[in-house]
Amino acid sequence: MPEPIIQLKDLEITYNLGKSNEYKATLGVSLEIFPGEFVAFFGPSGCGKSTIMYSILGVLPPSGGQLLVKGENPYSFSPEEMVSFQTKTIGIIYQAFFLINSLSVIDNVALPQIFEGIQPAKRRKWALELLKRFDMDKQGEKFADNLSGGQSQRVAVSRSMVNNPDILLADEPTGNLDSTSTKQVMDSLEEINIKDKKTVIIITHNAAQLAYCHRVFYFKDGKLLRTVPNPEKKQIAKIDKQKILVTELDKLSKIFPYSTPVELKVKSLVNYITQDLNFDQLLRLESFTKLMVERKIEKTDFKKMLMARFHEGGIGVSEDVANTMAEKVSIILHESEDVRRFRRRFMDNNFFARENKIIDRMTEYLEEMFQAKPIPIQKKRLKELVYDRIAGLNDVEIFENTLRASLEEGGLNLTRKQARVVTLHFEKILIQGIDSESQGKH
Ligand code: ADP
Repeated sequence: MPEPIIQLKDLEITYNLGKSNEYKATLGVSLEIFPGEFVAFFGPSGCGKSTIMYSILGVLPPSGGQLLVKGENPYSFSPEEMVSFQTKTIGIIYQAFFLINSLSVIDNVALPQIFEGIQPAKRRKWALELLKRFDMDKQGEKFADNLSGGQSQRVAVSRSMVNNPDILLADEPTGNLDSTSTKQVMDSLEEINIKDKKTVIIITHNAAQLAYCHRVFYFKDGKLLRTVPNPEKKQIAKIDKQKILVTELDKLSKIFPYSTPVELKVKSLVNYITQDLNFDQLLRLESFTKLMVERKIEKTDFKKMLMARFHEGGIGVSEDVANTMAEKVSIILHESEDVRRFRRRFMDNNFFARENKIIDRMTEYLEEMFQAKPIPIQKKRLKELVYDRIAGLNDVEIFENTLRASLEEGGLNLTRKQARVVTLHFEKILIQGIDSESQGKH
């Protein structure tokens, strides 16, 4: 594996150091980014994402810990070396574009090359080539203030590449754009990552954009809470495979590598509802449950099949047991539809306001399982937990531990048993809601 291109070790950045309003914006952040990676700094507003990005750019010196870019500490550079570092090693694009309105599009892109002493004709030619790549060459002679937001950002992308830097920093690059322009800009960044083999770091709080990334660094309150590899991307960094295990489905697929995804889902549900059934009854139960998972029968049919005697093709459980089983399966399957909807839009990068409704509904399903009516802070934390789990940003252990942790510790203060029940239920919903095409193929 190559050496990291960026290394942060116990990084601390403090604003107004030594003054009465001193503020530690990041606390002991350690991470490594490898050449050719596309990563996101993700997390709620104010969690320190920009602070870290600007520290990497060389404009915010750390107050503690270590920051290395290409093995060197930029804060040890002379002023001349720093200028060269910022022009040749790092390109940056901002949410607000920062184009110069009184210059043409071509001159905006060519501008950084003036400082490099490159001849005007050569500068313009190179700027035009870059603009062409991002489909902006036809607007080359326009003034920058005549462009739409999406066009402005594509000019800014071209400008960021003009000195052929190794690293591209993007601070909420699509924050001001509509969905079509967002996709164009994200696709451009992906192309820069894949074709030009540049390392791309993007700050975002739009979860849909995480699908572009190899890894996501998830920050909260100035700390790196976790690093989440994207299972859909071939990883560059060395990843502990265990950490990619997102659901029980993945685990089952390791134990039963020969099973199809549907069979795995069936096994998961059958594990859940099995009581004192013998092997033959279990096999039959699996086949009935499969029909439910595939939505080929309704709850009432399922219940009848469970209650029918064995020699009549059923399982022969009592009405009570059949009721419980049918109820559990149909609740999970019904609730999992929301997971499926959410994940589809998440994967299709089509993740906008309406998703909140899905998260709200999922949160309500789980709240119903609480012993007492949840208080507002529990509701808020449960919603965050549900979002993170569905988006693949936390694992089952964090989910359950947070449910159990006290309110002071940032948890929901559920009993151990309650936390277990809610977690188990949610995991079952998650498994059923994951599209079979992308899972269980190991
Ligand atoms: P994010 O990019 O995740 O939204 P920031 O890195 O901008 O977060 O900010 C992290 C924290 O540092 C916030 O609490 C913010 O108020 C604080 N902060 C940012 N810039 C300054 C500054 N120049 N002076 C003091 N505090 C700041």
